[in-house]
Amino acid sequence: MNNKFTVLVIEDEQHISDFMYSTLTSHDYRVLQAFSGKEGLSLINSQCPDIILLDLGLPDIDGHSIIKSVREWSSSPIIVVSARTNEREKVTALDMGADDYITKPFGTGELLARIRTSLRHSNRLNNDSPLFSRPYSAGGLKIDFSRRMVTVDGNSIHLTPIEYKIVAYLAQNSGKVVTHTTLMTQVWGPYAASDTNKILRVNMANIRRKIETNPADPKYIFTEVGVGYRLKEDEQG
Ligand code: CA
Repeated sequence: MNNKFTVLVIEDEQHISDFMYSTLTSHDYRVLQAFSGKEGLSLINSQCPDIILLDLGLPDIDGHSIIKSVREWSSSPIIVVSARTNEREKVTALDMGADDYITKPFGTGELLARIRTSLRHSNRLNNDSPLFSRPYSAGGLKIDFSRRMVTVDGNSIHLTPIEYKIVAYLAQNSGKVVTHTTLMTQVWGPYAASDTNKILRVNMANIRRKIETNPADPKYIFTEVGVGYRLKEDEQG
């Protein structure tokens, strides 16, 4: 196995770092461990990892500063690993360029799923398959981007242009959390009005009414409280 993906774990708590190390090595990843921000930045420089798992609470450098400095020269996906339940921390990390987050304590399955999704999005897995041109498909939900067609269990769904933009953007980032700010900027542009947040919620409620069997117990669009939305991952990934 020469083509292992390299995962850099930047985490100062030994037992969490070791848990990630053993989980990932047993799933065929090559794992590098850094126990401080400084060590992490140096390994990013020298080893160019395919993906970075970053604890926000490090002893030397603030996690947000690490994201900021990495994003100046690297597009390697960063998954924030945080014990903090403070949504603002996660939102800031995502808006600064982190790809996703995972909250401690987390299980093996969740860790592996987040990594797979981020790697897929980083285009390193299949550089030649344009992610956005082929249709999205998960469960009964299908989106044909070239025809702007959304179907659920074979039934065509009528969405307004704004609703379609929201769903299409979530689909292009399926499996990943998309923050409210990112979604609003993507759909309404950088000068979105201040009440856009409310408009986004109204649109989301309408979309769910159209595509979910039970909007209160969604199968496709999940709410990440205080952070944003996550669309069920594309099954053809
Ligand atoms: Ca820590």
